[in-house]
Amino acid sequence: MDAFREYKGKIITIIVLIIAIVIGLIILNLKSCAGRKKPEPTPTPTPEVTAEPLPTVEPEPTPEPTPEVDLTSDESITRYISQKYPISESYVPSDLRTVNVHVSKPQQLRSEAADKLEEMFKAAIDDRIYLKLASGYRSYREQADLHSYYTQTRGAYYASIVDDHPGASEHQLGLAADIGCWNGACELSYCFTNYPDYTWLKENSWKYGWIERYPEGTQSLTGMAYSPWHYRYVGIDEAAKIHESGKIMEQYYNIQ
Ligand SMILES: [Zn+2]
Repeated sequence: MDAFREYKGKIITIIVLIIAIVIGLIILNLKSCAGRKKPEPTPTPTPEVTAEPLPTVEPEPTPEPTPEVDLTSDESITRYISQKYPISESYVPSDLRTVNVHVSKPQQLRSEAADKLEEMFKAAIDDRIYLKLASGYRSYREQADLHSYYTQTRGAYYASIVDDHPGASEHQLGLAADIGCWNGACELSYCFTNYPDYTWLKENSWKYGWIERYPEGTQSLTGMAYSPWHYRYVGIDEAAKIHESGKIMEQYYNIQ
């Protein structure tokens, strides 16, 4: 019986120990839970970074397209000519004809230019403006003689700024007209600008396809002196557009 009691005491002691251990573990476990780190917060997904819309940039104004006209073919009504863009010595327009207007000596122009010049002179007469065609077509040879004459009588500078250059004059194209008063007053002179004939031409020539080619203040662009008597035929449509633009050929066609 003593042995049983002894066992019983040990068993009880073991049971108590086990209970104590279990309780201890429970407490430790509770502490452990309390001490657990809070769960890492689920990271909020970073919103997609949307790029700030770029400020709207106004597009650069597109330069006016260069009008599509033929500035280079010899027979083109809009053939551009200058010392930089000359024409050959042998060029003679294929459709020259005598112009039926008031002249001192017979003058020729290309057919279309002649038609429109005649119309213009008639319209001027209707407005009591009486014009004279002082000079129309001039051949390469005539240009060379004129250039030589001006060089000798007026000097090299003068000869370099008037339209006497062989191969570089609109007169050789048959598309230029030097226009003055009926009676020849102030012919090829600046005093022509004092006459109503000059004013009428400035206001009306474009309606007939003719433009004042070397206006005042344009020598730096054309290389030619102000020539209020010199008109150029470019055709009705182009003359109207150039007149409307307020530009000269070099500016309107962007010719460098
Ligand atoms: Zn001229």
